[in-house]
Amino acid sequence: MEIELIPALRDNYIYLLHDPGSGAVGVVDPAEATPVLAALERRGWALTHIFNTHHHADHIGGDRVLKQRFGCPVIGAVADRHRIPELDLALGDGDLCEFGSLTAAVIEVPGHTCGHIAFYFAGAQVLFCGDTLFSLGCGRLFEGTPTQMWGSLLKLRALPEATRVYCGHEYTEANLRFAVTVDPDNPALGQRAAEIMDLRRRNLPTIPSTLGVERATNPFLRADHPALRQAAGLKINDPVAVFAELRRRKDVF
Ligand code: ZN
Ligand code: FE
Repeated sequence: MEIELIPALRDNYIYLLHDPGSGAVGVVDPAEATPVLAALERRGWALTHIFNTHHHADHIGGDRVLKQRFGCPVIGAVADRHRIPELDLALGDGDLCEFGSLTAAVIEVPGHTCGHIAFYFAGAQVLFCGDTLFSLGCGRLFEGTPTQMWGSLLKLRALPEATRVYCGHEYTEANLRFAVTVDPDNPALGQRAAEIMDLRRRNLPTIPSTLGVERATNPFLRADHPALRQAAGLKINDPVAVFAELRRRKDVF
């Protein structure tokens, strides 16, 4: 699968997917239609699938115009049926969606919103996780509880480590600044920090990351790790409580 990153709005990424074998063309979380239409035009592609990870406007803003133009279905969470106006194909945990010769599995990942889903292409080893898992971070808990979000992150953490992680925003540098305050002695984080600073200096995306890198460096995936707990100066053991405290600190960072 070919994947093109389309920067949109302030710091969103829209992803354009192409399966060369079948000619299927998808878009994940079209914040706005204009840059997607420009990219499709440049490539000479016609859109066949629109994927939405959750209902926020910066992830569905382009749905209507793109759907009108190409007549392709909008695929999203059954739990968001009432608030994704263009939704055609409402899917839940474990449901599969064909994309040309490829298949996306839906993983329900509540926390940022209660209807949030991720799309996992096992064959291509690619994950689109919206605002649930960011590189070195995770989404704010607008609708869900720490228990829900921690459970969602555990589901994503269990995927193969080579999985490329495509998240909804370029937040990596800000996440890094927070991560080093709670996990300062993590050598993997130090190495990732150098890579991130180098990419951002050259104005390049830090996305995709991989699950292996996130497992080793993302503090929100390490809430059950004794070293993280110790470095963060936490005397609590319960991973959910550690996660909740990390999230609270990040909210006020
Ligand atoms: Zn969001
Ligand atoms: Fe967002």
